[in-house]
Amino acid sequence: MNTHHHLPCPCGSGTSYVGCCRPLHLRHILPPTAEALMRSRYSAYVLHLIDYIIATTVPAQQTFLDAAELMQWSSETEWLGLNVISHKILGKDHAQVEFEAYFRDGQHRSAHHELSGFVNIGGQWYFIDPTVPLPTMKQPCICGSGKKFKACCGKYLKPVA
Ligand SMILES: [Zn+2]
Ligand SMILES: [Zn+2]
Repeated sequence: MNTHHHLPCPCGSGTSYVGCCRPLHLRHILPPTAEALMRSRYSAYVLHLIDYIIATTVPAQQTFLDAAELMQWSSETEWLGLNVISHKILGKDHAQVEFEAYFRDGQHRSAHHELSGFVNIGGQWYFIDPTVPLPTMKQPCICGSGKKFKACCGKYLKPVA
C-alpha cells in the first residue's frame, strides 16, 4: 500500500504522489485552488478514495452521493491520465476547470471532456456536482450563500461549448 507513494502522482502533475495529492487526500492541507482540488479528485478516483470524493463535493450535495456506486465505477474504470485545459477564477467564490480525463473503453482510449464548477465555502473549495438533483433556478443556492441558485452556483454549471 505504501509503494505507490513515491511514484508519479496519478493526476499527471509530474511530481511524486507524496509531494502532490497525498497530503490533500490525508486532509493534511486544503487544496489551494480549484485546479488542485480537481486534480486531487481525479487521483482519488484512480486510487478509489471515495470518502475524499464525497468530502470534497458541496456539503449540501453529499447526501445524494452513493459511495458504493462511486466505488464500483472507480474500480471498473481503467484510468489513463488527466489533462487540465484551463482554470478560470470567476468572481470571489467560484472557479471553473476544463479538463479531459482519459480511460480505456474496451479496446479504445476514450476521453471524458468536462467543464467543472467549483465554489469556495468558508475558505475551502468544493466541487459542484451537476449530476445530483439541483434546486430550481429561483431556490436558494446549495452553497449557503443566501443568493438564488441561478445567481450563484447555477451560473457555473454550463456544458462545454
Ligand atoms: Zn497530484
Ligand atoms: Zn452558490
